[in-house]
Amino acid sequence: MVARIIDGKAVAERLRASVRARVAERVAAGGAAPGLAVVLVGENAASQVYVRSKRKTTDGVGMQSLAFDLPATVAEAELLALVERLNADRAVNGILVQLPLPKQIDVERVIERIDPRKDVDGFHPYNVGRLVLKMPLLRPCTPYGCMQLLAETGESLIGKHAVVIGQSNIVGRPMALELLMARCTVTICHSATRDLPGIVHQADVVVAAVGKANFVQGDWIRQGAIVVDVGINRNADGKLVGDIDFAAAQERASWITPVPGGVGPMTIATLLANTLRAAELQDV
Ligand code: NAP
Repeated sequence: MVARIIDGKAVAERLRASVRARVAERVAAGGAAPGLAVVLVGENAASQVYVRSKRKTTDGVGMQSLAFDLPATVAEAELLALVERLNADRAVNGILVQLPLPKQIDVERVIERIDPRKDVDGFHPYNVGRLVLKMPLLRPCTPYGCMQLLAETGESLIGKHAVVIGQSNIVGRPMALELLMARCTVTICHSATRDLPGIVHQADVVVAAVGKANFVQGDWIRQGAIVVDVGINRNADGKLVGDIDFAAAQERASWITPVPGGVGPMTIATLLANTLRAAELQDV
């Protein structure tokens, strides 16, 4: 079997086009274009690339992109004061503080300070709690993007055994909650999991969010499984690769996401959809 590719670039382009059209409708009806504030602290090279791309894509769908760049030495109190100002600003519908943050800043405190109705990353305990309770509002972008890629296969998820590798707050955990809400039977694996290959081999759906190049071996994948690769890593040759040995896994999977061009483009498109949703929530 050679897997069919789930084309994240194409799905993301469709989602962006739908957001662009809905933003244009809002503006034509006399409303303001939704505003997304992206806060970047310090000069982490990867964060700079992500933030640049988020700001550019925001403009591309007709939303207002508001940029706040703070030095790596910024005091936590100053960052919290900025979040408070953005919470109060009616022109700002979404607030994203790019992670990771420098050591002197308590990430949880910053996330909790964001107004949950403007929490377009979906990381605030209020939004995570709503996902736990099967009443999602603003959903973490990467897992929600993965769900849209899974929907693209046209396969029902009901009753499938989904194995998520990774349990981070931004990917693994919310991914498992999304799959559970979709009626999968979910197994969450992490660095203390025993017999990871054996567990992955039982999966109808595999989602890898580990952060290690080509970590998941092709022969772990069961014939016909659907494989979603969240990882973004550089291999020894400097090439962008995922967490899954793509060439080998493609021989066994029924569907697979590539890296690049799979989950990555969906994360930003979902962020924009969340920003529009946040603006709609704030209308009422
Ligand atoms: P993270 O916070 O470092 O979490 C990695 C997870 O992998 C942890 O739960 C860890 O387990 C688990 N893990 C590490 N080694 C393992 C092993 N040997 N066996 C089983 N599990 C293991 O990373 P993250 O933020 O979730 O990101 C994961 C990857 O996704 C990274 O490559 C990141 O760049 C990428 N990413 C991509 C997007 C996108 O838009 N495509 C968005 C976000 C992240 P423990 O909890 O036990 O330590």
